[in-house]
Amino acid sequence: MAKNNIGKNNFSKKYRVDDGGKFQLKDCKTAPDEKINENEAEAELKEMVEEISDLQNVLYADNKWSLLLIFQAMDAAGKDSTIKNILSGVNPQGCEVYAFGRPSVEELGHDFLWRTSKCLPQRGNIGVFNRSYYEETLVARVHPELLKAQNLPNNLVTENIWEERLDDICAFEKHMARNGTRILKFFLYLSPEEQKARFIERIDNPKKNWKFDKNDLYERTFWKKYMYAYEETIRHTACEHAPWYVIPADNKAYARLAVADAVLSTLKDLDLQYPSLSNEIIVSLKSYKDILDKEERDIYKI
Ligand code: ATP
Ligand code: MG
Repeated sequence: MAKNNIGKNNFSKKYRVDDGGKFQLKDCKTAPDEKINENEAEAELKEMVEEISDLQNVLYADNKWSLLLIFQAMDAAGKDSTIKNILSGVNPQGCEVYAFGRPSVEELGHDFLWRTSKCLPQRGNIGVFNRSYYEETLVARVHPELLKAQNLPNNLVTENIWEERLDDICAFEKHMARNGTRILKFFLYLSPEEQKARFIERIDNPKKNWKFDKNDLYERTFWKKYMYAYEETIRHTACEHAPWYVIPADNKAYARLAVADAVLSTLKDLDLQYPSLSNEIIVSLKSYKDILDKEERDIYKI
């Protein structure tokens, strides 16, 4: 039985930002307050993953809602492994995962929401974005040359561009919400010290060498600018129908539990039901069973 007592019970609520107006990153923490036992956390996560899996089956059968999970973070914050662990129990047929890297020439030739809008989850499915359209108000804001590469008409690129893009994202998410998509956005909030430790581990551990990217060291030097961009982004886009969760990410086991808890609470909140059948159909099901019972077995002999 799980003993940390931090899993479940909607404990992720304390990390939820659904009214961005007064959001300040300085009120958030990169490390959890609670001390956690890693083995127990693993057992707790296992239980939660099973529950997520059960609810995903009903989400799929119900075929009304879809769930979109967006992950944003600095490098090495644990996006990949969180996604892998949280969704390890779900039926792959009802789950769509997309990672968004540097835009291609074709993608740069379209508006910034184009490439992600093609990947939104189908009704009944869980969609996961490993990075997303939020890169536009994060990395492109930190590196204005990325905005230049989009070749927008000059008179549309004013000092209001970031506010306009954030407004566009809000409108896009409202549109999704009004069409039955529940959106949860996770910022895995890592400290620069822990990032450094994880980079060193990527260098020292031969099995992790492939993950090391020298460009990550360069990006790290823009830390303050990134944090400002995250704060502005969350402030403008955290709302009831598309909340942000600012999850302490220095402890991976804890971060996974917090994300799983938010997903679980949201799925529970949807009050999902297996589709109900009319009496007429229930009666006819019995007659189909009779047909199967009475059929001549010989006809299937090869
Ligand atoms: P890891 O944390 O394991 O390194 P990752 O998510 O960083 O994984 P990468 O393929 O290393 O994956 O990097 C993707 C890169 O693409 C990131 O540097 C990100 O900022 C960049 N990127 C994503 N979207 C955009 C965008 N719209 N414009 C410019 N760059 C983008
Ligand atoms: Mg990277």
